[in-house]
Amino acid sequence: MPNTAMPAPGRAAFLFLLAGCAPAAGARPDWSAREAAPPVTSAPPSSVDITWLSVTNVYLRVGSLGVLTDGYVTRLPKSAFVDQTLARSPAAYRPDSAAVARVATMLGGRDAVQALLNGHSHFDHAFDAAMWAKSTRAKVYGPRSTCYQLAAQDVPASRCTAVEGGETLTLGDGVAVHVVRWNHSGDHAVNPELHDPRELAGVPTRDPATGGLRPGVTEDFPNGGGSRAYLITVATGGRPLTIFFSNTGSPVDLDQPIVVDGKNFGAPIDDLRAALRDAGLASVDLWIAGGGAPLARLVLPVLRPKAYLPVHWDDFYSPLEAGVAKPFADPALESLLDSAGVALVRPTQYLDRWRLDRSGVRAVANDAQKRALGLPR
Ligand SMILES: [Zn+2]
Repeated sequence: MPNTAMPAPGRAAFLFLLAGCAPAAGARPDWSAREAAPPVTSAPPSSVDITWLSVTNVYLRVGSLGVLTDGYVTRLPKSAFVDQTLARSPAAYRPDSAAVARVATMLGGRDAVQALLNGHSHFDHAFDAAMWAKSTRAKVYGPRSTCYQLAAQDVPASRCTAVEGGETLTLGDGVAVHVVRWNHSGDHAVNPELHDPRELAGVPTRDPATGGLRPGVTEDFPNGGGSRAYLITVATGGRPLTIFFSNTGSPVDLDQPIVVDGKNFGAPIDDLRAALRDAGLASVDLWIAGGGAPLARLVLPVLRPKAYLPVHWDDFYSPLEAGVAKPFADPALESLLDSAGVALVRPTQYLDRWRLDRSGVRAVANDAQKRALGLPR
């Protein structure tokens, strides 16, 4: 669900224009669209390429390993919800499977995504996870609500691993992920349906007429027991490269235990401390974050990131190929980062790409994919 104010009304149907960008048959995944490709060697990776696809959808490429966060492509219209609380929907909806397939092709096809890290089970993060499981070889990790949503869409149980926080995932190519139990934006006193941790009790039932699910946050897409954040470490042969991804968060109870059905999952900020300790880290190279200054003020002293990539600040109803509707601007956050000595990685357009190596984060070109998507220049 949105972590920011409700965006402007949706404008038109979502349509991808990606003709002609399929990878060459038998070739390595053409994730780079033939430019800015990192060197392919058998040595440990020395960099991570980071492509912002929209909202909290980020594609990480480490050597031959592709990791996607969330992957929401469908862009349901605002009319898919009864009102701005997003609690209920007037009807069931199906994912835009063609749109997901086109983005998967753009990233390099079935082999381009080996792991999908889902932060929470709201529609704007989890609605297309089943389609990614079907379009690629990705194994999905996320709340058990997300796994129930996949089961409802006929994804075999073996393709989804429910994570509660505290686990360490080994994804290959020297990439390890510590799962951190996290909370959701909002406040129990203001918008409990959004903020309070809530999991599905079981596999939701598809609408018999359409085969779709109901996207409301009190229907088939609750938050999934708060959220999960992911601390990603990439072994390089020297100092590891490190990224923390959190797609939401609330400053209101970041230091309070998350309790679901009587089970205590710890306070998010303490769970983050434990993950950093387990990973042997005192800081990270990059924090990819949804949430603004009030959340960052609490997390920065613990996480100590060198750089910060803001996500989930953009509209997610309007057509993707129209591009970012309004430039990123968050004066309070920018001022906070500046005073903490954290570099802002400023996103300007969908499919912006950066490369993280031991010298830091720098922008690299991704013009071919932007052209393929039909994004404005
Ligand atoms: Zn949400």
